Amino acid sequence: MSDTLSKVLYLGTGNLHKVSEFARLSPSSLSILPSPSPPVEESGNTFFANAFLKAKNAALAFSGPKGEWIFADDSGLVVPALGGEPGIYSARYAGEGASDVENREALQRKMKGIPPEERGAFFVCVLVAVLSGSGKLVAATAGYVHGRIARGPMGEGGFGYDPLFVPDGYHASFGVMAPDEKDRLSHRARAFRRLLSLLDLQGKGGKT
Ligand code: IMP
Repeated sequence: MSDTLSKVLYLGTGNLHKVSEFARLSPSSLSILPSPSPPVEESGNTFFANAFLKAKNAALAFSGPKGEWIFADDSGLVVPALGGEPGIYSARYAGEGASDVENREALQRKMKGIPPEERGAFFVCVLVAVLSGSGKLVAATAGYVHGRIARGPMGEGGFGYDPLFVPDGYHASFGVMAPDEKDRLSHRARAFRRLLSLLDLQGKGGKT
């Protein structure tokens, strides 16, 4: 892989919000480009299995040269008091096609009556990088952020469960925080920093 090509990472997603989120977390020397692929059923039982499925799906559909790095993510919220729910079902906790608001309401219903000391939770993000063409595994990383589930939504920023999640050491939810503050703490940022380090793509004086 040439120097120029090694500064590009393809993200296996049709979701341009994710592309811009990872671009925001990248050093200026690195470009994140979308690698759209046909929808894939997230049939795995773990975050890793689903991230690997998405990455392989994108790698096999990739129309560029073989041997490029393509990565994909899978993430979610884990609440130990609920036996790990919503977990890998975070995006569809209130049913297939559920909105963020419906998923948050489902979580609040399940957490009703759970005392403060049992409201701990964490976000997980797993990233898997593979080679275009073969789909061969290159690297896998995970990032976590621990906190607790608030009794009601706080703020309207972010997405998903952000308004209900208060990271450890804070009184405000992710729904209240500025994006760059969330970026400093988030499971996604932590997993991505590890991926860049494994792929030797950290760059110098970048945005992270
Ligand atoms: P996926 O990574 O697109 O599969 O996301 C799974 C689901 O987990 C999302 O739809 C959200 O409900 C939840 N989730 C993942 N990361 C975050 C986050 O940073 N904030 C809030 N919710 C999140």
